[in-house]
Amino acid sequence: MTSKIYDCLVVGGGPAGLTAAATLVRLRRSAVVFDSKAYRNAGAHAMHMVPGFDHADPKDFRKIAREQLLSRYKTIEFQEGNVVSAAQVELGDDTGAAFELRDENGRTWRGKKVILATGSIDVMPEDIEGYKENWPHHIYQCPFCDGLEDSGHSVGILGFPSPMYQTYGFAGLRFDDRVIIFMNGDSPSDEPTFGALRTLEALGARVEKRRVRRIIDNGPGPANGISVELEGGEKVRCGMMFHHPRTVNRANNLFDQLGIERAPVNEAMEIGGEVALKDQFNQTSVKGIFAAGDTTTPYKSVAQAISSGNIAAVGACMTLAMEEGAKALAAKS
Ligand SMILES: Cc1cc2nc3c(=O)[nH]c(=O)nc-3n(C[C@H](O)[C@H](O)[C@H](O)COP(=O)(O)OP(=O)(O)OC[C@H]3O[C@@H](n4cnc5c(N)ncnc54)[C@H](O)[C@@H]3O)c2cc1C
Repeated sequence: MTSKIYDCLVVGGGPAGLTAAATLVRLRRSAVVFDSKAYRNAGAHAMHMVPGFDHADPKDFRKIAREQLLSRYKTIEFQEGNVVSAAQVELGDDTGAAFELRDENGRTWRGKKVILATGSIDVMPEDIEGYKENWPHHIYQCPFCDGLEDSGHSVGILGFPSPMYQTYGFAGLRFDDRVIIFMNGDSPSDEPTFGALRTLEALGARVEKRRVRRIIDNGPGPANGISVELEGGEKVRCGMMFHHPRTVNRANNLFDQLGIERAPVNEAMEIGGEVALKDQFNQTSVKGIFAAGDTTTPYKSVAQAISSGNIAAVGACMTLAMEEGAKALAAKS
């Protein structure tokens, strides 16, 4: 066990964790960032909507952020590898309640506060042959992230389970006028979803009702794109495809161990289950543990992760300062 008690243990070295670190160091708070190097956008080679890093490789963003932190600030450390367990501990000295994390090498780390910036996993649907082979270079989960560069090539939308899929249609029609909605044998079960589908049809989208048998990778780039094989054997070519796989928290095991409350799951919409936030500083249901990034919201983006990483770290800094102030006052009286 390291004898050091850090001000904050940050789990996650993506945009949320890196921003939390960049915030903690500004008040000279000691922190260690744990990074198992399992990033949600690992398969993406260009990220968008991040000013200063538009179309940059996410790897470069992380590398530069880390280098800047290590070269400018003395209170930050990075540790590679998985945090495998987490617990609340009572240190019994002046520190009081704290947290203990164990890494995959059996080392334990103690901190007064914790920021969980552990991200999400996209769960690849098992029932559609060829899906995971086309993710994420032909199948895109977010039309603001990917799609524009493939403009002028036909757009597929896989399924239409909720009115939220209207966004894919609206965006797809900005990229090309050939938008095909592959219903995959289903039909909308409620009026809002029907309405969304009708609106897209009115705008020129085509609805294909047959079941999808498999998705074939025709080669790199939208000019090759994919072929969607339908029941009966017909193949429909698309330059790109939009679909939202279900996401789950990458560190649900740690959340369970710590007893952290999650948001309700909406099975029909395939959303929910993220960490429930309890105050404006992203504190979780466990006092002293803050959360940031994809694991806290269904709206998952780098800008959101940066913003919430900052908020969580400000919360951790403020809480530490308030506790130190209260102790000083108590000592005086
Ligand atoms: C294919 C694809 C393309 C995308 N493109 C864009 C885009 O263009 N623009 C955009 O804004 N967004 C994009 N996104 C979304 C974006 O990638 C995420 O919103 C963003 O990465 C979230 O940041 P994060 O820090 O919350 O999580 P992540 O970046 O996923 O980082 C999570 C961190 O937690 C660590 N971790 C988790 N559990 C543990 C543990 N137990 N121990 C140690 N470390 C742990 C991981 O190793 C990692 O360091 C894309 C997503 C995908 C899937």
